Amino acid sequence: EQTKLLESQNISLKTEISNLTGFNWDLYADLKESIDNQELRLFYQPIINLKTGLITGFEALIRWQHSKHGILSPIAFVDLMEATNLIYPIGLWVIETACKQLQFWQKNFHTYGNLTVNVNVSTKQLTEFNLVENIRKILSDCQINPNCLKLEITEITVMGDRDRTLQIIHQLKDLDIQFCIDDFGTGYSSLRRLTDFPIDVLKIDRSFIQNEEWVIVKAIGSLAFTLGKSIVVEGIETTSQLQMLRALFSSSLEKCYGQGYLFSKPLNAEDAFKLLANSQPFVIDNASIGDSGR
Ligand code: C2E
Ligand code: MG
Ligand code: MG
Ligand code: MG
Repeated sequence: EQTKLLESQNISLKTEISNLTGFNWDLYADLKESIDNQELRLFYQPIINLKTGLITGFEALIRWQHSKHGILSPIAFVDLMEATNLIYPIGLWVIETACKQLQFWQKNFHTYGNLTVNVNVSTKQLTEFNLVENIRKILSDCQINPNCLKLEITEITVMGDRDRTLQIIHQLKDLDIQFCIDDFGTGYSSLRRLTDFPIDVLKIDRSFIQNEEWVIVKAIGSLAFTLGKSIVVEGIETTSQLQMLRALFSSSLEKCYGQGYLFSKPLNAEDAFKLLANSQPFVIDNASIGDSGR
């Protein structure tokens, strides 16, 4: 009885806290075990050169194969990783798994040149004690050229200690790792960042493509190219969007990359391997092809 009472008090306390903070204690308990239980997966979405149609690399996207809830999208648990310190071990697991995968691809597919892998990292992760050393070790263990690892970051300026974050980014740049600004043009991204932070790639947020805001897309691209950066256009879903982009950027297509369901959804490691093994470039210059992109 006593235990039951304590338990029920405990549960009601938890409910109270979670009502206050939106914190899901059950999910937290499960997430803590998720690495050990081997429930985390990476999916890989190809990034395509819009001049050649060739795959240049993949973005790694986390999924959680939950024993009760099935496959959970990162939208369901990224905030939870952030709010707790689980972003540190899980974030490192993501980097390590993505780098091992990249090593495997590079070993098996020489015809692609140096394939790359993009990994999403949060601002909180960037301030992790020992992050630089951990990444350096992963890269050296996997024998990967650091230039083939691209870290995607979003909300830099608002969170945490800006100077400390900048310092870490510079240390990672010194290793020769590349940086992308994710979802550029939305949220917290600011033009200030383009000059403050050593960024290599702008990823243009997919909302601009979905809303067909081509003037904005063109302007962001021009800005990127002027600053010597390349672009990845996110969320390309139709051939007409692809044709529009190729027309907009016809004079700088070599610095222009695309990602989206038109080419491929995020794939599990096995399907990503099959896609690479197929080795056909995506058809990008023929408006009459179907929306499969091939
Ligand atoms: P993101 O980095 O902007 O990733 C792109 C998201 O757009 C992915 O959603 C991808 O599946 C989706 N997407 C790609 N192409 C298309 C398209 O043509 N149409 C539409 N409608 N969507 C498309 P996903 O995988 O659900 O990831 C959501 C977000 O979760 C990511 O946005 C990223 O911010 C975060 N995330 C994913 N993996 C990680 C991770 O390992 N660590 C951290 N910190 N965040 C992650
Ligand atoms: Mg991303
Ligand atoms: Mg994005
Ligand atoms: Mg996003």
